[in-house]
Amino acid sequence: MTFLNASPPAETDIRRRSILSGIAVSSGVAVGRSLFINRRLGFASTPVKISAKKIPLEEERLEEATLALVMEFEEAKRQLSSQSLGPAAREQADLLDAYILICRDPKMLALALDMIRRGRVSAEWAWERAVQSVVGAFEKMDSPYLRERAEDVRAVGSRILARLRGESHLLPAGLEKCIIFAHDLTPADTLALTPESVIGLATEMGGHTSHTGILARSLRLPCVVGVTGLEEAALDGAQVIVDGIQGLIIVNPGEPELLEYAELQKEFSRYEDRIRQEASLPAETVDGIRAAVYGNIEVMDEAAQIRLLGGEGIGLYRTEYSYMARSGLPSEDELYAEYARVVEIMSPAPVVLRTLDVGADKSLGGGRLEEENPALGLRAIRYSLRHQDIFRRQLRAILRAGSNGRAAIMFPLISGLLELRQAKSVLGEVRQELDNQGIAYDKDMAVGTMIELPSAVFQARALAAETDFFSIGTNDLIQYTLGIDRGNKYVSYLYQPLHPAVLQAIRLVVDAAHAAGITVCVCGEMASDPYCLPILLAMGVDEFSVNPQAIPIIKYMIRNFDTAELGELLRQVYNSSSVRTITRLVKHHIHDRFRTELHFINLLNDTDL
Ligand code: PEP
Ligand code: MG
Repeated sequence: MTFLNASPPAETDIRRRSILSGIAVSSGVAVGRSLFINRRLGFASTPVKISAKKIPLEEERLEEATLALVMEFEEAKRQLSSQSLGPAAREQADLLDAYILICRDPKMLALALDMIRRGRVSAEWAWERAVQSVVGAFEKMDSPYLRERAEDVRAVGSRILARLRGESHLLPAGLEKCIIFAHDLTPADTLALTPESVIGLATEMGGHTSHTGILARSLRLPCVVGVTGLEEAALDGAQVIVDGIQGLIIVNPGEPELLEYAELQKEFSRYEDRIRQEASLPAETVDGIRAAVYGNIEVMDEAAQIRLLGGEGIGLYRTEYSYMARSGLPSEDELYAEYARVVEIMSPAPVVLRTLDVGADKSLGGGRLEEENPALGLRAIRYSLRHQDIFRRQLRAILRAGSNGRAAIMFPLISGLLELRQAKSVLGEVRQELDNQGIAYDKDMAVGTMIELPSAVFQARALAAETDFFSIGTNDLIQYTLGIDRGNKYVSYLYQPLHPAVLQAIRLVVDAAHAAGITVCVCGEMASDPYCLPILLAMGVDEFSVNPQAIPIIKYMIRNFDTAELGELLRQVYNSSSVRTITRLVKHHIHDRFRTELHFINLLNDTDL
C-alpha cells in the first residue's frame, strides 16, 4: 500500500492506540493509512489582531476564498452532470446548490467584513465568528428543517476557513488507497472518491441515512459515521482499521489486531463473493417455492445495474425524481424517451412505473404547497387527479413506452375503490385518445394498485377485483397504520415493521390478492429487511422489490428458506402481541442459518433483545 500525501506523524503518536465507535453504514474492513480532511470549524483557532493598513488585504482574502469555493462547487456540479451515479448524484447536486447559495449569502459575508473593519481581526477569526453566529441562529429555530440547515452553514463555513488557512480540504491528486477521515464530507469531496484512491471512510458527523453512507455503499467502501472524537484521535498518516461491520475505528492497532482483521477481511470477501456468485440463480426456496426479486430505481441510469446484481426486473420506478431534477415540467416526448430506454434495457424483464408521487416530502420545481399536514394532503394520486394535464401527459408516455418491452403502471397512495376507478377512468380516456390519434402503445398493459393506507387494506378485496396486481408500500403503510411521521427522529422508535398491526394489515392484503388470483409485491424497505423477509415469504408474498444493492443477499436468503418451517414460525408470530416477542422469534429462527450473513449486514434497526 502506498500513501503519497500525508507526512508521517511523530514517533510517539504512531504508537498511541485508540478505539472509537460510531455507526456502521457500509460493511467490510479496511486497513491502511489515514488522511484527515475537512477539520471542523473552530478546531484549534486563535484570535489574531491586525493593523489598520492590513484591513483591505484581509477583506480581499475572505472575498477571494468565498469566490474560489463557489467556483469549486460549480465545477463539482459540472462533473456530476457528466457522470451517472443515480440517486446519490441527485442528492449531491441538490446539496451543492444549497452550498452555493450559502457561499453567496451576502449577510454572512457582510457580517465578517464588518468585524474585520471594526474589530481589526484577521479574516479567519472574523469569518469564524460570523459563521458561528449564523449557525447559532439556525440552531434556535423551531422547525427541524431549519435547524438542520445549521449543519450546511457549518460545512460551508469550515471549507472557506480551510482555504483561508491554506489547508487542504479536498482530496489531493494522486492519492492511492488511503482511508479518509473527515469531520463531514460534502458532495464535492465525495465526488473524488474512487476505489483506487480510497479504501475506507469515517466521519465525525452523519447517521444511518447520510449521503456519505449511500455513496460508500454504492462504491462498496467500508464506512463508519458519527464517530465522536475522531478529529482528536486521528493523525494523518497513522495506521488505522475501519471496521464497517461493528462500527469501530482502531487507530495504531497492535500486531494481534492486525492479524485478526486480516482474517476478517478474507472472511468478508469470501462472503461477498459467495452472495454475488449466486445472485443470478432463481429466488427459489429449498422446498421449491419461487419468488421474484426486483430492484427499486429512482432514475434511468440505475436500470443497467439491476441485471448485473441479479434483479429480475424493476418492481418500483419512482418516476417523480426526474420531474424533481428539472426546473420546468418534462414534455411527453422527454418522458417517453426516458421510460422507453429503461423498458428496453430491462426487456424482456418487467418494469413497473409508478405514476408521480409528489407532495409530502417531495415537491416539484414550483415549490411546496402551503399545507398544514402535507403527509395527509395533496400527494401522490391525489395530486395527479387534481392536475390532470400533468397526469395525462405521464400516462401517455408510459403507455407508449410499453411497446418497447414489458411495462406495467401503478398508482400510489390509493385510498379506496372510488379513487382507483377515477385513476383508471383517466387512463381509459388516454388510451382512447392514443387510439384516435393512431399512436402505438401497449394495449394490454397491467395496472397495479399500491397499498399504503389502512383504508386500502380494509377495501383490499374490492380493490383486488378491479386491479391486475398489488404492491405494498410498507414505508407509508407503517407510517399511516401506526400514525408516525416516517422522517421524524423523535418518533422513529415507533417505526416498527414487525408491529402486529402492520403484519395483520399485510396478511389481509396478501389473502385478498390471492383470493382474487392476482399477485402481490412488497416494494417498501421491509422487503429488504432480513427479519421481515421470512415472515413476508411465509405469508405468501410473490414478489420483493428492494434497493439494488440488497438484491443478492435477499435472493440468497430466499434460496435458503424452507417455507414449511416458515409456516410454523408464522403461526407463532400471529399468536404474539408484541414487537419484542415477534423479533425474538424471527431472530431465533434465522440466527443459526444466517449467522455469517447477519454478522456482515448493516441492520437499520437491530432491536436489542
Ligand atoms: C413505500 O411507501 O413503501 C414506497 C415504496 O413508496 P415511497 O417510499 O416512494 O413512498
Ligand atoms: Mg410510498
